[in-house]
Amino acid sequence: MDLFEYQARDIFEKHGVPVLGGVVATTPEEARAGAEELMGGTGSSVVVVKAQVKIGGRGKAGGVKLARSPEEAAQKAEEILGMDIKGHTVHRVMIAAGAQIAEEYYFSVLLDRANRNYLAMCSVEGGVEIEELAVERPEALARVAVDPAVGIDAAKAAEIVEAAGFAADVKDKVAAAIQQLWTVFSEEDATLVEVNPLVKTEQGDIIALDGKVTLDANADFRHPDHAELEDSATTDPLEAKAKEHDLNYVKLDGEVGIIGNGAGLVMSTLDVVAYAGEAHGGVKPANFLDIGGGANAQVMAAGLDVILHDDQVKSVFVNVFGGITACDEVAKGIVGALEILGDEASKPLVVRLDGNNVEKGRAILTEANHPLVTLAETMDGGAETAAAKAAATA
Ligand code: GDP
Ligand code: MN
Repeated sequence: MDLFEYQARDIFEKHGVPVLGGVVATTPEEARAGAEELMGGTGSSVVVVKAQVKIGGRGKAGGVKLARSPEEAAQKAEEILGMDIKGHTVHRVMIAAGAQIAEEYYFSVLLDRANRNYLAMCSVEGGVEIEELAVERPEALARVAVDPAVGIDAAKAAEIVEAAGFAADVKDKVAAAIQQLWTVFSEEDATLVEVNPLVKTEQGDIIALDGKVTLDANADFRHPDHAELEDSATTDPLEAKAKEHDLNYVKLDGEVGIIGNGAGLVMSTLDVVAYAGEAHGGVKPANFLDIGGGANAQVMAAGLDVILHDDQVKSVFVNVFGGITACDEVAKGIVGALEILGDEASKPLVVRLDGNNVEKGRAILTEANHPLVTLAETMDGGAETAAAKAAATA
């Protein structure tokens, strides 16, 4: 999960990274109040109004503006709110205390998947041109491998500032900030912490003026507090519902709803449905949904509930291989789910069962004789039937 800058700022502050005050606003009025608070509290004569969108290059796009009074902050907020930055609509701004910048640096630490390691990157030439710098003068961007078992300790931080070529007067302060940023990365289970710019102010302080943080969702169980960082406004409502039920669901752009058990089986089901769909006007899978090993009635009902509420879905293909949960249990799950859903189940369901107790499972579905359910003999056959039914009602 990517965080907004204001959320990154809060997390930085929590771990002792030097930051300036920041207040979120969703209206020009709130922006005015926020600027008053910052200007009164810190005595700063300038605030910065910053678009909060999860995309870089806000400065260049006109999403970062200085203001010299609360009135001006309100006016800049008015201009920035509603702005479109590379396809991201600005719903909030952060009013940040202004810094008098002497120098702009760059620092990031990230998960380096290719090398199964962490990687720190650092440059004394940070700022809005960092992408160009990385391409045109890669030697100006120091890259230092970080051993996950050790992290960025004092020695590693010293190595990083040395490699980046910091001047003697800021070395120690930058090294200290880098160690604090490592604490953020490690303690919050991030896969990316990036600060651009990390600035030296006219007063000689080192401050993180911008922050980009990506949290590792696989570690969510260790961080119950991370749940509230989620941006409910942009989360797909079906994906949110699936998450409530602990289902592995990804919304796709097709017409055939898919339910299967096991990620591999679901992936191949997407392929066969996409292939079968080509002969039926190009209908495609509507989602990825893995209900996992224990496909009881509740889990099946939750899965169907999510998929049947997708308006794009015209038919559903349930493709289950009975293992630990045998096919008769799965079949009972489907019948139970249709009972639970009642009238809300309104789209044709093609079911293919195989594996443990397949005969019993099929017998249960045949006996239930639900008008929406069709049994399929094979995976390819089921995909074909589901695609045909989707095309017929599309
Ligand atoms: P980005 O363009 O999305 O990366 O947004 P940043 O937060 O990095 O802001 C872009 C640029 O605005 C920075 O590189 C700074 O040059 C400038 N900027 C940001 N905050 C301040 C500030 O407090 N004072 C001044 N003078 N400039 C700032
Ligand atoms: Mn930036």
